[in-house]
Amino acid sequence: MRVVIVGSGVAGLVTALALGDRHDVTIVTKSTIDESNTRYAQGGIAAAVMPGDTVDSHVADTLVAGAGLSDPAAVQVLCAEGPARIRDLIRWGVDFDRQHDDPAADFDAGLEGAHSFHRILHAGGDATGYEVEWALVRAVRASATRVLEQTFVADLVVTDGCATGLTVLRDGIAETLTADAVVLASGGIGQLYPHTTNPSVTTGDGAAAALRAGAVLADVEFVQFHPTALAVSGSFLVSEAVRGDGAVLRNASGERFMVGEHPLAELAPRDVVARAIASEMARTGKPVVLDATAIGAAELERRFPTISAAAREHGFDWAHEPVPVAPAAHYWMGGVATDLDGRTSIPGLFAVGEVSCTGVHGANRLASNSLLESLVFAHRAAAAIRSDAAAPSGAPRLWSGLPNTVPLERLARAGVPAGAESPESDGMPATVTAFLGDSVTTVATEAGDASARVTREPSRAELHTLMWRDAGVHRDAAGLREARDTLAGWDLPVAADASIQRRETANLLQLARAIVAAALAREESRGAHFRADHPDAEPPFAHHITVQAPLHATSAGRDAAPAPAPSSASVTPAPASVAPAPARARASVAPAANPTEKVTV
Ligand SMILES: Cc1cc2nc3c(=O)[nH]c(=O)nc-3n(C[C@H](O)[C@H](O)[C@H](O)COP(=O)(O)OP(=O)(O)OC[C@H]3O[C@@H](n4cnc5c(N)ncnc54)[C@H](O)[C@@H]3O)c2cc1C
Repeated sequence: MRVVIVGSGVAGLVTALALGDRHDVTIVTKSTIDESNTRYAQGGIAAAVMPGDTVDSHVADTLVAGAGLSDPAAVQVLCAEGPARIRDLIRWGVDFDRQHDDPAADFDAGLEGAHSFHRILHAGGDATGYEVEWALVRAVRASATRVLEQTFVADLVVTDGCATGLTVLRDGIAETLTADAVVLASGGIGQLYPHTTNPSVTTGDGAAAALRAGAVLADVEFVQFHPTALAVSGSFLVSEAVRGDGAVLRNASGERFMVGEHPLAELAPRDVVARAIASEMARTGKPVVLDATAIGAAELERRFPTISAAAREHGFDWAHEPVPVAPAAHYWMGGVATDLDGRTSIPGLFAVGEVSCTGVHGANRLASNSLLESLVFAHRAAAAIRSDAAAPSGAPRLWSGLPNTVPLERLARAGVPAGAESPESDGMPATVTAFLGDSVTTVATEAGDASARVTREPSRAELHTLMWRDAGVHRDAAGLREARDTLAGWDLPVAADASIQRRETANLLQLARAIVAAALAREESRGAHFRADHPDAEPPFAHHITVQAPLHATSAGRDAAPAPAPSSASVTPAPASVAPAPARARASVAPAANPTEKVTV
């Protein structure tokens, strides 16, 4: 079986390793192999492996953080299978820190916000992501998996409703890679915001390609803002584990303002801390500071060597002085909707890691659960692909859906779910699906805003300003409507010879539309999505909002896709096949399951 994996973070690398050498596996990654969110992860990986801890306790903490939107079955899978996946990592060479630096002792498990147990395993102090990424890279390099670095995935190829490959750009040349299964492991969307802890590769390319191909996305409005990034250019993350070890937040007057905000003070859920910091900054016009001085210089250096080095680089001596911090976009709970095996609504297309929406995180990710989610669901997706390969028909199985969903266009059409009072529901454009696709003009006309009919190209900086202001930590209907109308007037056509940077910005623009539309439709506050005009959670909204672009916007019919290689002979030979997609037996493949059949409002 030929499998092409997009991305070389933890999710992509683990998928490849779990598939094993019996399959023809290629990883495509747009930068160097290690460049990813994964390699910057600091705090660690949550798993119930310490004496006294239980899977049930980890499940309970995850469900609380998810604010009523986590899928209990997915959370159970995550927490129950986590310990086995930690053992895999150890087998692949990850050396988790032990107590007293004694290799025979138990793990030196840390505590992070909203966890009720010390269960965060870390490696190299605060260099967990680096240690994990490089252990996996070494294991992949020792395997038969091929890796195509500096290769940009532009679009999915969908044939007869099934994913059959990818169009990629390598050295400026467009190629088509065919595959029996395509695995998106392309990470998140941090670059949609001006302040983000994410590296430059996080431009949502995989999610945008899936949207164009007609896949169902879910929970896109839920973006987690980390409360404590260093308030300097680059928004370097100061892990929650620092607060877990005793650091406190102070306002300009030196007061611990979180004490009055939440019973857990600095260890309250991330959204609570991020909003409190943003409000405090708005109120005083001054930055807030993180005071880690009580931890002591030696312990800070031992436990947080990476952050210590970054603080020094920016001229701070954090062992002796508080450092300025501010919220920054950090993690996307939304993504391509999957079932518990990583299958998406497009047969043959899998999604794992941050690009996916498995239902685990709900409205808010519990700290250190994302590396775990990548490990657990990459493993399951690999098992599903192996089982498809072993099936007599050879055809990909259909997904079993993400439970408890309502499509965005249904909210737009019907106003709001039964029971929710909403004066603003008429603010949604009637043709919301067109808004997500390419038909900007149609939407602008129906939205009734004359200025929005003017289509022009935005810069990345303009997109940043709009998203930070209107779809950031604090949101409200007025700002989101303004954002929607502005976005409706922006377009970024992608010609066959468009640069990678332009393609990335176009992908971000497409996802911005989806995020703003869903955020406008969700007339409540839940988890990371805070609406100042609807400050409470509303029970009728306790479901995932799904978005799906009209099928005319698929890669096949879109000008934006690079011209596929005319024949395998005329392109740089690629390890994965560049020949036209082989005709696969499709007799047994029914149309993708309709998510609207699964609605339970
Ligand atoms: C600073 C920081 C600290 C964090 N700390 C923690 C933590 O302590 N614990 C925790 O659980 N989580 C943490 N996270 C979150 C966690 O790191 C990520 O959610 C996780 O690593 C995602 O893994 P992934 O494999 O899905 O995506 P990534 O690791 O982001 O990998 C995505 C890959 O896809 C590639 N790619 C993207 N687009 C394309 C394209 N068009 N073509 C080809 N390739 C493409 C990228 O180059 C990259 O290789 C942290 C994140 C950051 C940024």
